[in-house]
Amino acid sequence: MSNPLDIPEAWDFITDVVVIGFGGAGFAVSVTAHDLGSDVILLEKAPEGAAGGNTRVAAQGYLSLEGEEDAIDYLTALCGHYKVPSEMIRVWAQEMCKNKEWLTSLGGDPQEHQHPPAGIEFPHLRGSGCVHKFHEGDTYGYGKTWELFERLTKDRAKKGEQPLRIFYETPGRGLVQSKETGEIIGVRAERNGLSISIKARKGVVLTCGGFENNQGMIRDYLPGMPYCYTTGSPYNEGDGITMGLAVGADLWHMNNFAGPALQLKAEGHPTTFSMRALHFSKEMQGGMIVIGADGKRFTDEKYKTCHGKIPRNGTYQPLPTPCPIHMIFDHELFCAGPLYDMHPRSGWTTVMGRYDWSDDNEKELKNGWIKKADCFEDLANDISLSPEVLKSTVQHWNAMMRDGCDKDFGRKLMLKPIGAAPYYSVELSPTMLNTQGGPRRNENAEIVRPDGSPIGRLYSSGELGSIYSNLYQGAGNIGECLAFGRIAGRNVAMLTPWD
Ligand SMILES: Cc1cc2nc3c(=O)[nH]c(=O)nc-3n(C[C@H](O)[C@H](O)[C@H](O)COP(=O)(O)OP(=O)(O)OC[C@H]3O[C@@H](n4cnc5c(N)ncnc54)[C@H](O)[C@@H]3O)c2cc1C
Repeated sequence: MSNPLDIPEAWDFITDVVVIGFGGAGFAVSVTAHDLGSDVILLEKAPEGAAGGNTRVAAQGYLSLEGEEDAIDYLTALCGHYKVPSEMIRVWAQEMCKNKEWLTSLGGDPQEHQHPPAGIEFPHLRGSGCVHKFHEGDTYGYGKTWELFERLTKDRAKKGEQPLRIFYETPGRGLVQSKETGEIIGVRAERNGLSISIKARKGVVLTCGGFENNQGMIRDYLPGMPYCYTTGSPYNEGDGITMGLAVGADLWHMNNFAGPALQLKAEGHPTTFSMRALHFSKEMQGGMIVIGADGKRFTDEKYKTCHGKIPRNGTYQPLPTPCPIHMIFDHELFCAGPLYDMHPRSGWTTVMGRYDWSDDNEKELKNGWIKKADCFEDLANDISLSPEVLKSTVQHWNAMMRDGCDKDFGRKLMLKPIGAAPYYSVELSPTMLNTQGGPRRNENAEIVRPDGSPIGRLYSSGELGSIYSNLYQGAGNIGECLAFGRIAGRNVAMLTPWD
């Protein structure tokens, strides 16, 4: 990355506002700033057909809260001991109550999820009645909310007088910072292998998502994760964190993420495969357990976590992930249809990767994703576990299943012993939807230094430096993209150009 203090001799492009990353947050910032009269350039790393980041492959729900006081209570309670300044909570609550109204004003068609109470992730927390989840359009189908965001942005890109310019396959690589004022005055990006510079007369907004695909950051920042993969966009590599750090930004919420879950990470595929047998609401025929590095079970395999967190001793903690982790199962489950859950209408692997898993799992057995053995000794040796421990774990599970009760972890679904040979295993990896950490922002969506002072003309929105510090309420990330996207868009548009 270039030195932010090196000012280009000549700028390749000039605009008022540069927005880096075209997902939900990039949409909200760009459209807001554009509609307030600013000239906007929106940079996107992915090609046009793969833009949209996690927003594109999300389950498409967004929160629009009801009742500001309840919203303040609920959002405060979600933070728990991981406190967020009360002024931030107030602004967050206020804006989250306006999401539906705003999208309607732009021509959207917000539809509330059929069973709103079902969407409240922490109903026991104060103010939880404020939660209302929406999606775009009559049919709750794949991609509808993203399609609206994309259409609204592209509509503005067509406007003759003051078009919003979208540059695909143009990753932001670094910020340009004035030596005199410390303000951000432009961006360096990469286009067709060449470095280009864009002067931002008003400011720059970072909306380039989290670090879901940056294993170095995952190891350093996520608690207890030697590695972790994603079901979201492979383009989110923590670039906004690197760019922010280079100009003196503080970081926050780096240890918070929407995960972990356990899925298959197969070589050659950037994102993970969800296993049907592990889905909390699905039953499959056959016996199955999940074991950790010590060959023992460590959780209820069918538990519905709160986006990866489970209640423990009066608090919530991430699901343990004693890697390497293996799903062990019998021939009946192997024969019970595809192990891969192809049907969820969210996630990069299903929506964009479109991998064609075989109906009888034979293709995946042949390519080594599934291992098979005639006895537990051979299976254990194949996956580097102690044969005695594996045998004793299975015997213990089968004994509990004869009594019809998982006394160890209280599992309620697929209570069947591991049946006849051959036996199988699939290695599972920790996986997540998205990270929440990044450059710290204030109530004006300005990115701040460790002493809390704003870095002039630099803003953010979305999951990059998300406000979620602890517990996560589903549909809250896209809700936040809209809320802080509008704040960032308004504030940057109001600035007087520096030149
Ligand atoms: C499977 C799944 C389901 C989910 N379901 C929901 C849901 O229903 N509701 C909800 O609220 N949340 C959901 N989430 C979380 C939510 O999708 C994200 O947190 C949110 O969409 C993030 O939006 P964003 O704009 O901040 O980032 P993204 O949507 O990820 O967009 C970031 C964009 O920046 C681009 N980019 C990255 N680096 C650069 C760079 N250097 N230069 C230029 N561009 C760059 C990326 O290509 C990407 O297009 C889900 C996530 C997943 C993975």
